[in-house]
Amino acid sequence: MADQIKATNIKWHHETVTQKDREANNGHEAAVLWFTGLSASGKSTIAQALQAVLFEHHCQTYVLDGDNIRHGLNKDLGFSPEDREENIRRIGEVAALFMDAGMIVNTAFISPYRADRDKARGLCGERFIEIYVHCPVEVCEERDPKGLYKKARAGTIPEFTGISAPYEAPENPELTLNAAEHSVEECVGQVVAYLQARGILKKL
Ligand code: ADP
Repeated sequence: MADQIKATNIKWHHETVTQKDREANNGHEAAVLWFTGLSASGKSTIAQALQAVLFEHHCQTYVLDGDNIRHGLNKDLGFSPEDREENIRRIGEVAALFMDAGMIVNTAFISPYRADRDKARGLCGERFIEIYVHCPVEVCEERDPKGLYKKARAGTIPEFTGISAPYEAPENPELTLNAAEHSVEECVGQVVAYLQARGILKKL
């Protein structure tokens, strides 16, 4: 959609403080933890719980959450395929900025299309960590914390992922969390262990 730069007479300014400088100050590396999965699979819950653990250990961390971003930055976007693509494109750009600012940023978006997630990966580079929050649609539908599946089944929400719109599961995610069988705490523990194994985090 917005792949071309429209403005003219703009130039890139070099920064006086780099990502590396910020990471040295923070005592951990920056990363984008890209949680993807069906609605109600547990993305927000796990991203928030992880943020709390990281924060407690003095890490610089932030959650970009689907619904919240749609209240502001992306309030002009709906759920058509084009709007979903633009939604994820903007989030990819924002996540890359947060990473440049030295943070561990957790993003919680369904992000149903593989191609869009791959574009975000392209923007963020090698510390883009795709985390597939795996949870069968039947379990998601049973949880239904926002009553969305009920509405989707009743036909009042069109283009609902997993019911009337596609979800393309990651083929090679860095991490898969089985959120139907493991508790929130266990899922958070698995992410922390992964970050430590990658050297992004030291021992907490
Ligand atoms: P999403 O962000 O993927 O739409 P939410 O985090 O908003 O999902 O909702 C997931 C729901 O499932 C919450 O009500 C949460 O308490 C519940 N839940 C139960 N078990 C888990 C688990 N292991 N991981 C994440 N959420 C879980």
